[in-house]
Amino acid sequence: MNGIIHQLEQAGYHVSIDDKAPYYQGMLALLGGVEGIERLRDVAQVRLLSHAQIRKGRAYTYRELFQLSGGHPQKLEQVLMQLVERHIWLRGYRLRCPNCTLEHWYRPQALSDPLTCAGCYRPFVVPLEQPFTYQLNPLFAEGLRQGALTVLLALYYRYQQNQAVQWAFGVLLQGEYQTDIDLMVLEGERLYVIECKDNVTDDVVVQAQIERGLAIVRQLPNAEYVFATLGQPPPTVKQLPLKVWSAEQLLPQSI
Ligand SMILES: [Zn+2]
Repeated sequence: MNGIIHQLEQAGYHVSIDDKAPYYQGMLALLGGVEGIERLRDVAQVRLLSHAQIRKGRAYTYRELFQLSGGHPQKLEQVLMQLVERHIWLRGYRLRCPNCTLEHWYRPQALSDPLTCAGCYRPFVVPLEQPFTYQLNPLFAEGLRQGALTVLLALYYRYQQNQAVQWAFGVLLQGEYQTDIDLMVLEGERLYVIECKDNVTDDVVVQAQIERGLAIVRQLPNAEYVFATLGQPPPTVKQLPLKVWSAEQLLPQSI
């Protein structure tokens, strides 16, 4: 990270870190470091982590997760077990209070006989049989909502090629141009300035962001601008002087 900041400061920029960076760092810690991103580099897992309801914190049974993952059974069970062990997927129970009818998600350690409803605070007896449901760790879910999936997979893509890379998440630059860069990776002398988007929703905003990024890259020696996305890169991007990393590079097989 120091090498990256040094280059940016040399080019006359004041460097700070944006609000998303602590989420990304926290996710990396849960994964057990950059090597742990390998666990996310799985088509079934990427489908689950891209699902809007899962990102909102909804809990699903294993059977439901299996269906949501798009019928790709490969590795799902194995990866899920590893991510449960790392507290990235949390195990619990979806229970409905017979008094106020509120359905709420309870961690196993919160269970008691009777259980106090999280809504109406009246006691009720938990059913005799109940399947586990799985919910994303809230830090992980928040990071994903902030765009972490493409950021982490892009970092892992370079890390696989060269484990000596340095990186910085969410770099805020103030100088001749102001912008924030989702991810920077320094690989030897080469600095990758990477705009990451799970999906492109607004072409115009993306293009403005890219143009600011390209202007900054021109001021840095040996820098290259990259647009990384798990979705389809917008047509305008393809006409700009930049590199695209798509699902082909970021995932073991296209989804
Ligand atoms: Zn209740």
